[in-house]
Amino acid sequence: MNEVWSKADLHIHSTHSDGTARIPEIMEYVATKTDLSVIAITDHNTLEGARFAKSLEDLYDFEVVVGEEISSKSGHIIGLFLEEEIPAGLSALETISRIHEQNGVVIIPHPFSNRGIFGPFGRTAFAQAVNEMAFHALEIYNSVPYLGWANRVAAKMFAGGQGIAATGGSDAHLLQGIGRGYTLFRGTTAADLRSSIDRLETRAEAAPGGLNVALRYAFRIPRIRRLQAWNWERCKD
Ligand SMILES: [Zn+2]
Ligand SMILES: [Zn+2]
Repeated sequence: MNEVWSKADLHIHSTHSDGTARIPEIMEYVATKTDLSVIAITDHNTLEGARFAKSLEDLYDFEVVVGEEISSKSGHIIGLFLEEEIPAGLSALETISRIHEQNGVVIIPHPFSNRGIFGPFGRTAFAQAVNEMAFHALEIYNSVPYLGWANRVAAKMFAGGQGIAATGGSDAHLLQGIGRGYTLFRGTTAADLRSSIDRLETRAEAAPGGLNVALRYAFRIPRIRRLQAWNWERCKD
């Protein structure tokens, strides 16, 4: 079995939704400033940015996964390896089944935050939801204490036969945020990443320098909020 482990940031926003970095800037940044082998562009409710990034992939030595962060009725859901855009405003179950129809990977991002799917209900509802929803992975957010806790939750789910993998993503809305949270997987390619998720061996990690990035975010937050408001307006059906 492949003993090389690589990093993937599976949650990145661009100007195609509420991020502040353009796709070509993201590609350059990943190539020159990070050691990521795979990235997923996961804009809100659109595949445009991800498809654009995919079209530039051959110019670089890392791979791009086409993803979308979909605003379902009960919160955000990430689909990876998508071919067709999934509309906002569907139920969580419908959203998840549309991802499965395309043979995509379902990740529940920031599951316990406000816009996360288990947000208002917390951990108890989480256990219930695990039984009802066939998702592949739980995103472990870019903060170290949470990371440790959520990696343990994922390990427990695995032990209980629930089959949940842990993935990490930065949820970067700024260039400098890219790679701050990432998924460690066995192998080097997007296909390896996928099988590593299927084998439940991925782990979430956070890069040092999180505080610096948090400060930058604080500085830019009004702008990001405005962009988010714009995006939510746009995906209201
Ligand atoms: Zn989100
Ligand atoms: Zn996001």
